[in-house]
Amino acid sequence: MGEKGLVSSTSIVVQLGSLAGAGMRRVRRISAAVAWLYLALQPPLSAQVIHVDHGPNALAQRSKPYVIVVSLDGFRYDYAAKYHAKNLLALAKSGASAPQGMIPSFPSLTFPNHYSIVTGLYPEHHGIVANNFYDPVRKQRYRSADAATVEDGSWYAGVPLWVLAEKQGMRSACFFWPASEAEIDGMRPSYYLHYNPTVPGEKRIGQVIQWLLLPPADRPHFITLYYSEPDHTGHEAGPESPETGEAVRQVDGLIGKLVAELKPLRLPVDLIVVSDHGMATVEGNWMDLDHFADLSQFVTVGSLLYAPSEGAASRAYRQLQGASDKFVVYRRGEVPVHLHFQSNLRIGDPVVIPSGPYMVRAHASEKPEIVQPDVKGGHGYDPQEMKSMRAIFFAVGPDFRAGAMVEPFENVDVYPLIARILGLPIGAVDGRLAPLQGILRQPQSSDLPPKD
Ligand SMILES: [Zn+2]
Repeated sequence: MGEKGLVSSTSIVVQLGSLAGAGMRRVRRISAAVAWLYLALQPPLSAQVIHVDHGPNALAQRSKPYVIVVSLDGFRYDYAAKYHAKNLLALAKSGASAPQGMIPSFPSLTFPNHYSIVTGLYPEHHGIVANNFYDPVRKQRYRSADAATVEDGSWYAGVPLWVLAEKQGMRSACFFWPASEAEIDGMRPSYYLHYNPTVPGEKRIGQVIQWLLLPPADRPHFITLYYSEPDHTGHEAGPESPETGEAVRQVDGLIGKLVAELKPLRLPVDLIVVSDHGMATVEGNWMDLDHFADLSQFVTVGSLLYAPSEGAASRAYRQLQGASDKFVVYRRGEVPVHLHFQSNLRIGDPVVIPSGPYMVRAHASEKPEIVQPDVKGGHGYDPQEMKSMRAIFFAVGPDFRAGAMVEPFENVDVYPLIARILGLPIGAVDGRLAPLQGILRQPQSSDLPPKD
């Protein structure tokens, strides 16, 4: 969005609440137009909430519950028990949980899965097929670290939950979430921020609480909150390391703080804590695909291969077939059905899928001397085959049964669940409510004696 969004007449940059106390007081004394000019001339602040004014909540939406979705990046399904994350374990008692994990979509990477959770679509359908990929039709690359592509809504298909809510007159807010900085289907969240990993965890919670303290007309009913740990430490030190245990307990502490700060608000808040994927200890050296196949005419991004012609795709497929037991190669149309990874040209062709926790890339690129991966932990692998890729799911609040446990389910199912809680009709998606229906309290359950 950047400049374009800032000059749009409905978009005014404001600083909210505790994030910038002195700045806020100054801003209040001057008109919105002057405030915009004042803020536009400032160097970027660490946590600037962008407010897009869509008007107040529709009257029919004001009596709906509130849903906060928190993502703890790379939080493997078994970390809470393994590293004694006491606040998350408490959520499992007072609410619903998936002890054997939630199954990510393939590939088990950050951007594809965050976007699957909020759209109910597999990556082949929502279009974010990797953190970094190429679009052979646009002839452009998408990079998760490049603001220009991340903020460009034309990359994203599907209707993210905040867009679903806004279009039905319900206000929403995102304290970070992949795709929340883009205008999608003509819509943005009412409140959002540009991603800045240095904003402290407590500040993020403070802002979420500020949003919930807004008057009912302006108070967002759907809120996202994102933390990049324990993914970062999991990569660096490996999933079995004491460092990762410490990172787990730190984000668990933030969950405890959030729960404690929500309580005095006395609002009907459903808190859902998820992760995008798990983490595996990587094994072996880098597998360079150009060692086995002539990829000189290909566009490549990581291990994704974009052939210049059908002939080149078929030749590379034959060269890579059986070349190593560390990966399996498929023509795009023959990728196993359970991966839902066929129907989008951004996937490339042929498709190389690691057979275990191995690091695969097309080229050694500029550093051919580096044969050992510079990380101890990795993900992106087949989440149905590798249990270590499984993510977490905890859900607590007035709409969830205390102590309910659910068998492993796919993360695309979270979308119909949240839409049901918020009473928002949805279009056709890949996710289904059925696997999660049992964790919901029935609408009249408060009138009935508690079951067991
Ligand atoms: Zn990661």
